[in-house]
Amino acid sequence: MMNRREFMTMAAAIGAAFGVGNLPEPVAAALRQIDPQTIPKLLYLQGQSCSGCSISLLQAREPTPLTLITRYSQLVFHADLSATSGSQAMDLIERYIAGEAGPYFLVLEGAIPEKMPTACKIGDKSLASLLESAARTMVGAVAIGACACDGGIPGAEGNLTGAVGLPKFFAQRKIDKSVIQIRGCSVHPDWVWQTVVHLVKIGMPELTEIGSPKLFFSRSIHETCPRYHDFQQEIFAAKLGDGGCLFQLGCLGQQTKADCSSRWWNGGQTWCINANAPCIGCASPLFAKQKNMPFYRMKKRKT
Ligand code: SF4
Ligand code: SF4
Repeated sequence: MMNRREFMTMAAAIGAAFGVGNLPEPVAAALRQIDPQTIPKLLYLQGQSCSGCSISLLQAREPTPLTLITRYSQLVFHADLSATSGSQAMDLIERYIAGEAGPYFLVLEGAIPEKMPTACKIGDKSLASLLESAARTMVGAVAIGACACDGGIPGAEGNLTGAVGLPKFFAQRKIDKSVIQIRGCSVHPDWVWQTVVHLVKIGMPELTEIGSPKLFFSRSIHETCPRYHDFQQEIFAAKLGDGGCLFQLGCLGQQTKADCSSRWWNGGQTWCINANAPCIGCASPLFAKQKNMPFYRMKKRKT
């Protein structure tokens, strides 16, 4: 159980993270005890997104989300979680982006509408203009989810906004900033928080050729799948819900690298293939890219 001192420290850190002003003196005193140099500040912006990744992040089990945004990082702004809003929020965001509030990591959830900048604005500024400015001041960036990495669902073939992910957005402007890319629709909370803890405790994690932490994205779903033996034996499911390999129902485990088969989802309750659903490739850079590539497909019938 938390003692009083720990409680005050935690309360102070939450106050700082969420922009709560006018702290009572004991809390403010506790806040002064925290060495802000030792925890990275995360400025969390959202573009074209459904907020699903944010919801997923809050399902972290151990450490808890509260610990993660106070002890291991300091979430200086998040549109869904911060108490700050309106002009106060914009002042906060702009102070960081102007480089007036110290070092910070930019975290982006959601895509950027390249062809229609007004489709995504924060305050009176387009997301694109904020990101261009942030590129000059941030320490590094973390792209969270399929949308922020590659455009995701907003970037599906035929979309009108020209949605792109952060790496492409930077590349098109010749901005040379490292972006840690954590794919998934949504992301697994462990993938994000363990990356943050790695950044704090150890430093930059080793990345794959597509900028994702090797810790989670080195091996394909297919090669670690418990149904791989069925695939080799050509025992295929004929419809959703069947046992057997799901390849003929559209499983994209072969082209998707993630550790879902060992990590599992929903607090370790299950994961896609355990629930008899094909891997739809949500952690692949090709996710949702093609119109003629539905998530689920019917097994071809013999004529
Ligand atoms: S269910 Fe998917 S990932 Fe598993 S063996 Fe079949 S094709 Fe590979
Ligand atoms: S199994 Fe495939 S679709 Fe399911 S969460 Fe993992 S990468 Fe995404």
